[in-house]
Amino acid sequence: MQPCRDVTFLIPSLLLVRGRYVKKQAAAIGGCVIEVNNLVRRYGRHLAVNQVSFKIEKGEIVGFLGPNGAGKTTTMNILTGYLSSTEGNVKVGGMDILEYPREIKSIIGYLPENPPLYVDMTVQEFLSFVGDIKRIPRKDKKERINKIMETVVIQDHAKRLIKNLSKGYRQRVGLAQALIGDPQVLIMDEPTAGLDPKQIIEIRDLIKELGKDRTVILSSHILPEVSAVCQRVLIIHFGKIVADGTPEVLARRLLGGRHIHLRLDASEAEISRALGKVGDITGLQFRESQEEGTLEVIAEAQGDTDIRRDLFRALSSADIPILMMRSLDMSLEDIFLNLTTKEREE
Ligand code: ATP
Repeated sequence: MQPCRDVTFLIPSLLLVRGRYVKKQAAAIGGCVIEVNNLVRRYGRHLAVNQVSFKIEKGEIVGFLGPNGAGKTTTMNILTGYLSSTEGNVKVGGMDILEYPREIKSIIGYLPENPPLYVDMTVQEFLSFVGDIKRIPRKDKKERINKIMETVVIQDHAKRLIKNLSKGYRQRVGLAQALIGDPQVLIMDEPTAGLDPKQIIEIRDLIKELGKDRTVILSSHILPEVSAVCQRVLIIHFGKIVADGTPEVLARRLLGGRHIHLRLDASEAEISRALGKVGDITGLQFRESQEEGTLEVIAEAQGDTDIRRDLFRALSSADIPILMMRSLDMSLEDIFLNLTTKEREE
């Protein structure tokens, strides 16, 4: 794996670093924000995270996707410094998590699966309390908390007791506490778990908004969630990363290249003759069509080669009408099932 490049980091206040105070840095995190190398976590004899390595660049919204027990929470807990690893190392903003645990905590906002809320406090009291813990200067605290409450749209509930809020609003309070201190990295474990469909859409929109100027990692075992919010997916299975990329790239990798699905008004022989001239085609599959007199064809090409234009030219010069042409992509669901229904490899 390539090492992180272009790393500068923001320390939001005066911090004690290796026995001396360093002044607040004006720079923001750049380039590679999170670098994880050969991470291993055992619980007794149980291997929960197994040699996991990945890098996350500034501004990415990355989804950890995996079935229950895959190791998502364990990985996130290690990234946030809540749990130690058995082996391997983690760098956030270029800093090693073992050497700079406090500095790293100051640039990460964490929303655990069950947000730690004091339910007998009002929203405002709780956020003010978190502001104190995160050492937000008194003079700025009120204004910053008001701004965060506006961001997560909870300002109308500021004076209500947390125990009287719905699950969706409690989740917003959890998100608000993660945002205090203006973290540049936001880590969220199952942020929409237990919410109703309307709340799910609202929280997803909020996450996308927050991801515009932050690096975001979220975990989920819900496929549409990850495709709706994330640009990149890390599929975790039995503690290992089994896939890393955009849903489109993962699909192509599994299919072994691009597949174009066509419906053509011609016979198999005519189509084979016409498409035989397209050099980049590596295979043709013919299927029956529901439309009488037509054939469905899957044209395969190696890797990322886009053969749609060549298909169009070859078929038009053979006077074969194209009734339908579309890329045949695997859904994230197909990819996930393909990768996670395999038996555990010991
Ligand atoms: P879920 O989606 O169900 O939250 P997950 O992908 O987040 O699952 P983890 O919670 O990281 O998975 O758990 C990974 C594995 O480690 C599971 O087999 C789990 O039972 C085990 N595990 C997690 N925490 C502990 C613990 N404190 N002690 C022992 N085993 C644990």
